[in-house]
This record gives sequence, C-alpha cells and structure tokens, in this order.
Amino acid sequence: MGSGKVTTGSAPFDFQGKHVTVAGLGVSGIPAAKALHARGALVTVVNDGDDDRAREQAAGLEALGITVRLGDGATLPEGTELIVTAPGWKPDKPLFLAAAEAGVPVWGDVELAWRLRGPDAAPWLAVTGTNGKTTTVRMLAAILKAAGLRTAAVGNIGVSLLDVVLGEEEYDVLAVELSSYQLHWAPSLRAHSAAVLNLAPDHLDWHGSMAAYAADKGRVYEGNKVACVYNAADPATEDLVREADVEEGCRAIGFTLGTPGPSQLGVVDGILVDRAFVENRQKNAQELAEVSDVRPPAPHNIANALAAAALARAFGVPATAVRDGLRAFRPDAHRIEHVADIDGVAYVDDSKATNTHAAEASLAAYDSIVWIAGGLAKGATFDELVATAAGRLRAVVLIGADRALIREALARHAPEVPVVDLDRTDTGAMLQAVTEARRLAVAGDTVLLAPACASMDMFTNYNQRGDAFAAAVRELRA
Ligand code: ADP
Repeated sequence: MGSGKVTTGSAPFDFQGKHVTVAGLGVSGIPAAKALHARGALVTVVNDGDDDRAREQAAGLEALGITVRLGDGATLPEGTELIVTAPGWKPDKPLFLAAAEAGVPVWGDVELAWRLRGPDAAPWLAVTGTNGKTTTVRMLAAILKAAGLRTAAVGNIGVSLLDVVLGEEEYDVLAVELSSYQLHWAPSLRAHSAAVLNLAPDHLDWHGSMAAYAADKGRVYEGNKVACVYNAADPATEDLVREADVEEGCRAIGFTLGTPGPSQLGVVDGILVDRAFVENRQKNAQELAEVSDVRPPAPHNIANALAAAALARAFGVPATAVRDGLRAFRPDAHRIEHVADIDGVAYVDDSKATNTHAAEASLAAYDSIVWIAGGLAKGATFDELVATAAGRLRAVVLIGADRALIREALARHAPEVPVVDLDRTDTGAMLQAVTEARRLAVAGDTVLLAPACASMDMFTNYNQRGDAFAAAVRELRA
C-alpha cells in the first residue's frame, strides 16, 4: 500500500463549450447527456441500435438541442474532447480504440457522477467484489441509518449515482455498490473507504483476463482516506490493497470468519468483534453483534456483515449501531430466501447464485441438500464446485441449457449422488424440478435453488426464475 501522495479527489471540470460524446442511449446515457448539456457541453450521443425505441429517445434529446447519431456507435465524432460511456460498453470497442489513439479520456457513469458532486458532497463508502455486493451495501446502509446518519444504498444496485449526486436530497455519507465495469471507467474516484469482498473469475470476456478484472476491482482502493477493507480468506483482495496508492494514514483492515488479529474484524464464540477500530488493538476488542443478528447467518453472509461493519466503523459509527443495523436489515428477494418448510424439508431460493462462486457459498451453508442447478454456464466449469459440495448433496435436479456440464462434473466427483436430468426448458420445468426435489428429500434436508448459472435460457432474469421456484413450492404445499 503506497501512500504520501495526498489526493484531493478530482479537479472541478468545466464542461462549457466542450465537445462531449455520450456512448449509448439508455438508463445511464440519457441522464448523462442531459446533465452535460445543462452544463454547457456540446453533446453528441452515439448509439449502435437504430430501432423505434432509440428513435423515440433520440427525438426527446434532439428537442433539447443534443445531437444524436443512431446506428453507429463505432466512429469517434470529429472534435470529441471527452467520452462518457454506459458502463457495459466493452473496452475493446473501436470507439475506445480511436479515443485512446486521439488521447481522448473516457469516463463511465460513476466517474461523471463523481466529477459532478458539489464541494460539500457526502463521502462514499464503496463496495465491490464478485459476490455479495448488494447484500453488503444494504447492510452498510442499515448500519449507517441506525447511527442516525442520512444515507442511501446507491450505485450498481439500481439507484443511479448521477441522480443521487444531482438530486435535492442531502446525505452525510453514501453506501455505494460498484461493478468492475463501472470501476474500469472511473479513473479519478476516491472513496473515503472501500471493500473488495472476494475475487473469483467472472465477466472475463469483458475484461479480457483475470488480471485485468482484478485490476479494475482494485481501483476501488485508489486514494482511500481511512480504510481499505479486504477479505483475509481471499489473498487476492489483500494483494490489491498492497498495490493501491492511498492517502497518508489510510489503514488496511481485514475481515475473517475466524478470530481476528490486530486491525481485523472477525468472529469469537458466536460474536462479531472489532479489533481494528478500538483503543490499543493489541489487547482490546470491541463486541459488535451476535452471529444470530445476521440474516441469514450463512458463513458468506457473516463475511458480508463484517465487511459492512468494517466500513461503518471506519466512518466512526458506534458498535451499537452495527448491531441495530444488522438486526434491522432484511435480505433482498432470491438471495438465500427461505420460501417454506414442507414435511420437515426447507425450500430455499438462491436464484441470485448465478455463478459457481456464489453457489459454492450457498451450498456451504447447509448440511444435507437436494440441489436444483443449471442454466447458462457463461463459460464456467463446475469441477471445483461439485468436488467441494459433494459431501453435502443428497441428490441433484438439473435444469437448463448447460446442465450436461454439471452432470459430467457430478459423474467425476460425486458419482454416488442421484441425479435427475430434466430435458425440458418450458415454463413447467421448474414445477417438475421442485416435485422431483421433494421426492428425493428427507426430513432435515434443504431443497436449494442455487443454479450456479445465468437464467436467460429459460427465464427473463433470476427474479423470474426465483419466482417460478417459489410458485412451484406453494403448489406442492397446496
Ligand atoms: P452481488 O450484488 O455481488 O451480485 P448479492 O449480494 O446480490 O451480490 O448476492 C448474490 C449471490 O452471491 C447470493 O445469492 C449468494 O448466493 C452469493 N453471495 C453473497 N455473498 C457472498 C459472499 N460473500 N461470497 C460468496 N458468495 C456470496
């Protein structure tokens, strides 16, 4: 962790008369174009698509005096001095290659919001990682609220940072979820404190390599003022802290499910404890909350709670607020959501487990599982996941397009576990999957939907997949 370079965040940027190209119409592009136009920039919006919806959106912007170029998101408009891009646009697009050649900077939605903050704007506590971001950010907001602070959970969780930064509402501090895409395009972001929860291969097609993905996640630590929070069980996150250039006095704070060392938060005898933000941390520890205050008390979720607590404590929040905030927190739908108990079997919806890393955490939370898995693998392999979970599996029910990949991994690492392979992707498939799971489960088991795959082969999104599971469970009970 390098320090000494005192960063003041970013210099105010004068947009007046600047030629700014906004890449992509849509949820981030339209408000960005409007905000830039309102600050005197000469805005051109470029968009790959040219359908009815795009034309309608373009007409709205053109009426304001903004230029829109539909059907060509590849060519850099003449005279462009800055590009503001939708975060999902891949860095290897010709537009960005042309920008790099011409020395034109590229900002994403987060960078734009960061640059448009007022001088007294609320500091950001930032969270990134492969899994657990939304949960952690919500826990963090709950803790900050319990401390009486004006705050909100914002960013990649579906609340636009630009809206928040430009809105009327005043905040003391923001709990900000950031994706690796957003971080890639946020060069001058400087958080008060930040956490990288974990790092597992994901979105590698976008970033190009694991190293590039990790480097983008690591940007969240750049210029941190008070704490860089890392996962002691995931050395890659600590490596990122070591590589970051932070402000003088900023500390590396670890979280662990074990007994914490000095400058760590951890767990002792069922109690979440802080050995980082206390007087004399060589000798003292502060009790924060009980493990049972965390819902659900699955190991990965306790890790999320510790990360949230670390950021809150870095901001100076008292221990009692950590406890009260965690007690007040309610998990979002489809994240280890307990749907029902039928004949002593628990039915749990973790449809949000859309990759193997998330599913591994989910499977680790139960002892005897009938596992419903499958969908779109997105290039993943399943050997490690299946080998780790094998001892906990009563049976497996496979659904979706890439289920053969999981079936083969099961044959290699858990040949004794019964597998039902459902060769259908129609809307009735989930009911059949749940019916099969019920047949295979015995009292004390958990039927767990943790697909380790994306849902789009059978459903609109993971919400719909989880809803289908819950509806099927209700049907069984009826
Ligand atoms: P994200 O916003 O990063 O997608 P969520 O909080 O929405 O994360 O959780 C997504 C899924 O990831 C959960 O349903 C759970 O299966 C898994 N998960 C949550 N926290 C963790 C964690 N700390 N480590 C591993 N997996 C996790």
